[in-house]
Amino acid sequence: MPELDIDALLDLDRRHVWHPYGPMPGRQQPLVVESAAGVQLRVAGHGELVDGMSSWWSAIHGYNHPVLNDAARGQLDRMSHVMFGGLTHEPAVRLAERLVDMSPEGLEHVFLADSGSVSVEVALKMCLQYWRSLGRPEKRRMLTWRGGYHGDTWQPMSVCDPEGGMHGLWSGVLAEQVFADAPPTEYEESYAERLRDTVERHAHELAAVIVEPVVQGAGGMRFHSPAYLRVLREVCDAHDVLLVFDEIATGFGRTGALFAAEHAAVTPDVMCVGKALTGGYLTMAATLCTPRVADGISRGEVPVLAHGPTFMGNPLAAAVANASIDLLLGQDWRAEVKRIESGLHDALSPASEIDGVQDVRVLGAIGVVQLDHDIDMAAATRAAVAEGVWLRPFRDLVYTMPPYITGDEDLARIGRAVCAAAREG
Ligand SMILES: *Cc1c(COP(=O)(O)O)cnc(C)c1O
Repeated sequence: MPELDIDALLDLDRRHVWHPYGPMPGRQQPLVVESAAGVQLRVAGHGELVDGMSSWWSAIHGYNHPVLNDAARGQLDRMSHVMFGGLTHEPAVRLAERLVDMSPEGLEHVFLADSGSVSVEVALKMCLQYWRSLGRPEKRRMLTWRGGYHGDTWQPMSVCDPEGGMHGLWSGVLAEQVFADAPPTEYEESYAERLRDTVERHAHELAAVIVEPVVQGAGGMRFHSPAYLRVLREVCDAHDVLLVFDEIATGFGRTGALFAAEHAAVTPDVMCVGKALTGGYLTMAATLCTPRVADGISRGEVPVLAHGPTFMGNPLAAAVANASIDLLLGQDWRAEVKRIESGLHDALSPASEIDGVQDVRVLGAIGVVQLDHDIDMAAATRAAVAEGVWLRPFRDLVYTMPPYITGDEDLARIGRAVCAAAREG
């Protein structure tokens, strides 16, 4: 097969290929990645760019990692995929066992899904079905706080921030959920009081509360006090509401704890993981739940969880996930994330001097510069690329969550690129 030259490739891309959150045909020309290794993307016409995004939180060990490559190759020679109905296999069983071992105490059952959004669908279905099984079908709404992001399929969209999730566009179509105000950064008793009150007032119709713990990702890159998670746990327990944590972005060490729930020592009833689960190699996510939730569902009139994706438990993805988790736990990941945290602190501190910068914040291996205006995404991206870094600013945010293997010099470079993007955007 002859290789396409770059112009032909971009022309075909523009005419035929839909990109995330994009119009058709595309208006902004994407960069063409030829290969990737370590923390670098090799981009046609631009050479090597340090990846400040970990391909949307996922590539925590960097690209083309020999251990992950071996895991994929080894599994490829055994089998890439078999259906999961009526069949099982070691990669999936081992993965479920690892996830149970490493996640907050009390989560014991694992549903393997094929993307983050699907794992949230499954989480919400579990909660709805739990209450139906217990003869309380009126408990069918979800409560969340504003500013969240839980995915792009229908149920997850209904609990995304109403503005960011374009609920206006979907009125009459999306399930109408209950929204509390976005959580403040610091603990405020008055906010906690209002949160408790909102849950209590709606408890009779609530199946679950679903939130991203500690870090709200794509909904605005905001951080909040872990103490709010304890407030939610207590009020949910007191009023018969299930609690779901969406750890798809925060899981696997990103915030400095293995899972963000650990910052509050809280176990949710249901937890979603995804993104970094396979180290960014393949699409896979998981929904974990407690025996209470599983037993409830299994005692119902329809005593099964009616969900079963074609590629459920994909052995190739599971084998890479196992290798990625081993890599993570086999190193002092806490020290690496701390190192990145202090590197980002240093590298992003000049940003607070830039005109139009409203806030600079760092937590774990996440760095955020927030502006007082919406960014010119093309100009900001160009400025970062000129510094040799790949970033994907959005709305009023220039942010980075680099791979954990990013060295100190590359962290400094990412810092310069974030500042350049903030200045030019
Ligand atoms: C990315 C993300 C999702 C959706 O995951 P996909 O794999 O993109 O479907 C859901 N929740 C959170 C918190 C995420 O960051």
